[in-house]
Amino acid sequence: MSPPRERLRIALQKSGRLADASRDLLARCGLKFRESRDKLFCFGESLAVDLLLVRDDDIPGLIAEGVCDLGIVGRNVLREQAFAIADGVDAAPYRELRALGFGRCRLALALPQGQGYAGPEGLAGLRIATSYPNLLADWLRRQRVDARVVVLSGSVEIAPRLGSADLICDLVASGATLAANQLREAAALLECEAVLAGPRALPADARGDLTELLLRRLDGVLQVRD
Ligand code: ATP
Ligand code: ZN
Repeated sequence: MSPPRERLRIALQKSGRLADASRDLLARCGLKFRESRDKLFCFGESLAVDLLLVRDDDIPGLIAEGVCDLGIVGRNVLREQAFAIADGVDAAPYRELRALGFGRCRLALALPQGQGYAGPEGLAGLRIATSYPNLLADWLRRQRVDARVVVLSGSVEIAPRLGSADLICDLVASGATLAANQLREAAALLECEAVLAGPRALPADARGDLTELLLRRLDGVLQVRD
């Protein structure tokens, strides 16, 4: 565990799909920051709340290790890593505190256009390419289907054309990437959006109070938006 801290530390994506919306949301909660020169760290000027700007993949681990108290990350990343860090979502040392309403997409199965989908049973024996092997394996287990999971870290959508997989399991928002790769969506496994993640129990110190204050402000901001 990291040493005790007075100030609350929130991990955000440094650049990418969630970066701007995450910063905007905290600004609307009344938080103001001064950026360090390397832009990795932002010092909170209005409250004792600082930011750490990192790759989204690092956020669950930073919370699990206690390096950061909170984080804004896609539900897909949070849940996928819950299987690496612990024994799945219910055993993870963190939980989803609030759904934030941006970065919406879904983890979905997609297959080559013109190929039929006969439900989960039809997947038996097929190779499915994904960057979310734990979420996919968990879903396959629950469907009681035995398929092969092919792990790719990127460009999952070209796997069927390359012949390295029969279908894919990937994030889909508009479906434009699928269409561009002659794929069509067959089934959604998980609805995703950016979430505020934090510890199962709030720290019993100033950081716990700051978290409660932030959650109250966040609820106000999210309510106005609905
Ligand atoms: P990093 O450099 O931080 O690792 P990344 O490339 O892994 O970034 P992004 O592409 O910025 O991640 O996506 C961040 C999150 O945005 C995803 O994990 C997902 O929750 C959400 N998202 C929303 N729409 C999409 C989409 N069409 N494709 C992929 N992710 C999406
Ligand atoms: Zn990432």
